[in-house]
Amino acid sequence: MSHLYWQPIEGLQIAIDGPSGSGKGTVALELGKELGLPVLDTGLLYRFTAWQAQQAEIDIHNETAVLQHLKASLKSMQWSIDGIFFLGKDCTSQLRSEDVGGLASLVAASNNIRKTLLDVQRDLAQSGCVMDGRDIGSVVLPQAQGKFFLTASVRERARRRWSQLRVNDPELSIEHIVQDLTARDQRDAKRECAPLSHVEGAIKIDSTIMRADEVVDRMLSVLERKELIKAL
Ligand code: C5P
Repeated sequence: MSHLYWQPIEGLQIAIDGPSGSGKGTVALELGKELGLPVLDTGLLYRFTAWQAQQAEIDIHNETAVLQHLKASLKSMQWSIDGIFFLGKDCTSQLRSEDVGGLASLVAASNNIRKTLLDVQRDLAQSGCVMDGRDIGSVVLPQAQGKFFLTASVRERARRRWSQLRVNDPELSIEHIVQDLTARDQRDAKRECAPLSHVEGAIKIDSTIMRADEVVDRMLSVLERKELIKAL
């Protein structure tokens, strides 16, 4: 499908939700490229919150202190399609560590932290985007015209993570990642506010045995069928 040029309707918002390691990031980037839409990774905001608390040696379970620090840090943060910059420096690669990801899922359970990050996300999405996360179709952009729920088996998600991380951490085992992903999935799906869920109207795609380009093709055909994009 990628030989075609696609024209999205004006202000098209596409929400891609799903568990850790389901391939949302890769697929969102490819889809954004095909459609000429900015791609926004909302997980980075929760990672930033956790990383900031970690840097300031704040107890991650102390919601009031984490929130207060976040509010102050947001003044010096820029979030864009290129990632997150803090005090003018790109900190995206630090945010992507497994360690920070685990802490992020702890701060993400706080309703007050989620509320603080909501406006940041909505502001950037206004003129159209592909946005990925856990609650995009349900809470952040419930009006999004295109909604997808991307998933894959926990073993396959762990295998994908492992092949990315083993370069820097040759000792890392798939088993260890399976345990970590399972714990994170449970926290994300069982929390009270904005839990990860398959919202009504979102098209579910199981990518366990699909390549990223096949997932993108599937999404493009759904969007075309819904007349949200047009082949030129
Ligand atoms: O997607 P990523 O692994 O970067 O997200 C890190 C953590 O941030 C997730 O485990 C999840 O708890 C949280 N998150 C969230 N809502 C989003 C995006 C991420 O709760 N929209």
